[in-house]
Amino acid sequence: MLRFAGPYPQGLSCRDAAMARGIFIKLLFLLVFIVTTGLGLASPARAEPLRLTHLQLGLNAGLTRLVIEASAPPQAELAASADGLGLLLTLPATRWAAPPPDVTAGGLVAALGLPVAAPDGTLNIAIELIEPAVVERAFHLAPQGRRGHRLVIDLRPADPNAFAAAYADPVHLPLDTAVDIAPPPVGAAGERRRLIVLDPGHGGQDPGAITASGRYEKEITLNVARAVAQKLRATGRYRVLLTRESDKFIRLNERVGMARAREADLFLSIHADSLSGDRATRGASVYTRAEAASDTEAESLALRENRADQLADGLPVAEMDDVVSILLDLASRDTVRLSSRFAGLLTASMGETTPLRRNALRAANFRVLSAPDVPSALLELGYLSNPADEALLFSEAGRDRLAGAVVGAIDRFFGVEAR
Ligand SMILES: [Zn+2]
Repeated sequence: MLRFAGPYPQGLSCRDAAMARGIFIKLLFLLVFIVTTGLGLASPARAEPLRLTHLQLGLNAGLTRLVIEASAPPQAELAASADGLGLLLTLPATRWAAPPPDVTAGGLVAALGLPVAAPDGTLNIAIELIEPAVVERAFHLAPQGRRGHRLVIDLRPADPNAFAAAYADPVHLPLDTAVDIAPPPVGAAGERRRLIVLDPGHGGQDPGAITASGRYEKEITLNVARAVAQKLRATGRYRVLLTRESDKFIRLNERVGMARAREADLFLSIHADSLSGDRATRGASVYTRAEAASDTEAESLALRENRADQLADGLPVAEMDDVVSILLDLASRDTVRLSSRFAGLLTASMGETTPLRRNALRAANFRVLSAPDVPSALLELGYLSNPADEALLFSEAGRDRLAGAVVGAIDRFFGVEAR
């Protein structure tokens, strides 16, 4: 037998050591096998992903209630979304037992994004909010009748500071500590906070006006509406709803219907104009609704903007269409008066920030301004056919200034001095 000096104990050959090592490795594998299968038997839920059977949104005693139903008690994590305006609900190792349900937004929730689970099994549900909201309570409900295991999450409005503090770290749900169940706070003056509905013009198959370089009005209107929403929410004085949060097509009547259904205090439709063959005209203008247009230019603008619905051909007709009357004579005198007042304030505020069109305050028969009970105005931010306006509208700094002017006008309209 070949012997040599090596790192082996006295009397143990190289071959003996190799055999001993082999046995040790086999034992190790056996041990790992026993431990893992043993754990698997102890908690089968770890091997089997949670199956989501239902998701519901509703109102309960003034709170917005989200109910998640699943094959086992759901655990989740709630965090502020990246833009700080909404929430992200994360369920680990979860999959839908059926296609995600069609959930109608309501209460504090403007929209719910219900994707299929990510490849790693994580399910991220995006919750768009109309104002900052925190968890009032979150608890499990045991199966009952046909209902499975449920996680119930109740949201209540909060000011921006409370929102930031609540989600400094992700919130684990259900809450296992006692929670403050004080009634929802009201505004400083003891009133409910005003609801502002911002309506980014166009979207989806309707791009709106197009710049010489091929950029779209629908993009500008959404970006400016988002900037205004962020500033309004940051004041803590308003609730804000966008008629669209993404690049999607929405009928004019649906936009109006959203404001009416939620009894909005103000509706502002945001657009940018364009004149073919005219690169010189620039500046903002503000419109209210009138059956007889203030001038031929306003009349043809209203015709262009009203044409958006023609692109809806083939899309299912929304239920709201019947609810919304387009008859101007239904508008209360109060709504007409308030709309004019806001339009005047908005024109003045825009004028402090950006060039205005000559006779910047105009009127025409805009269908999107047809709510008889919600003060409404339409803002044309500028002209995409003008290079200076295009540069202003496509720059973040420009959008920020314009958004600031809109917020200033809204504050003045509701008699709030900007702080
Ligand atoms: Zn437009």
